[in-house]
Amino acid sequence: MTIEIQIIETGTIRVRPSQLTQPPGNVLLRRLRFLTDWKLTDPIPIYAFLIKHPEGNFLFDLGETPRCLEKGYYPWWQIGHHVVSMNIGPNDGLGSQLRELGVNPETDIKAAIISHLHSDHAGGLSDVHGMTEIYVGSEHWAAFQNTTYATMEGANPSAWPEGFKPTMLEQNGPPIGPWEHSYKISSDGRILAVDTPGHVPGHLSLIIIDDDVTYFLTADAAYSQTLLDQQLIDGINTDPYVALESQRRIKEFCKSRDVVLLPSHEFDSVRRLREKEVYRPSETQ
Ligand SMILES: [Zn+2]
Repeated sequence: MTIEIQIIETGTIRVRPSQLTQPPGNVLLRRLRFLTDWKLTDPIPIYAFLIKHPEGNFLFDLGETPRCLEKGYYPWWQIGHHVVSMNIGPNDGLGSQLRELGVNPETDIKAAIISHLHSDHAGGLSDVHGMTEIYVGSEHWAAFQNTTYATMEGANPSAWPEGFKPTMLEQNGPPIGPWEHSYKISSDGRILAVDTPGHVPGHLSLIIIDDDVTYFLTADAAYSQTLLDQQLIDGINTDPYVALESQRRIKEFCKSRDVVLLPSHEFDSVRRLREKEVYRPSETQ
């Protein structure tokens, strides 16, 4: 039985070029460079993924919310929202778009998995909170328990629904490719989450094993296929060297089988999904 993936675009964002990539090095210096970089990239999308599996509908990430444009949505000292330019329409939030697709977010979602709690991946929390099980990696949740730290790092805990407490994923999945452990999302093991830390502690990516091809949803472990292929890590991550190791693993996995790569912030993901274009990692590095 095939698994159907639908990409939901919850607005676009322009970021500073130094956020997309910088050479690995001292984290503070990289962030200083980012803060003094005044240019903006062309818009890039913010995707959430709806995965229609025989066991039910799963969500991978929740995208951004239109409320992010409202005054006071972020605390003033949340740096992240000052250094980007968001474009999201009033009906571009996850809840509205799910309804548009004929999926009732209150009753039709089996589980939602959040790669990490940055605001552009967790913006739709209020659309599904209390309606379905919401999963986060335990290492990530532990790190972002400190809401001041989480806010400084690009999340927005002040917008999380009251009483938000995600369920921790358990390492109950089989080894897969270079990963010794995985997190079983569907009970048949065809949807698995794997650890891809570095962007933030406990960051997760998703593997979907379909009949003819495997999908790898990178979230922010790679902003684009080209950046991954050249092992160009994002510019303001928590740990550049851990991020590089995660990218190396993803490439290794993609060499071992036919994988369609679906980053969250690359328009071309839509075409690649439609054409099932397999990623052939280059041999360099
Ligand atoms: Zn992120």
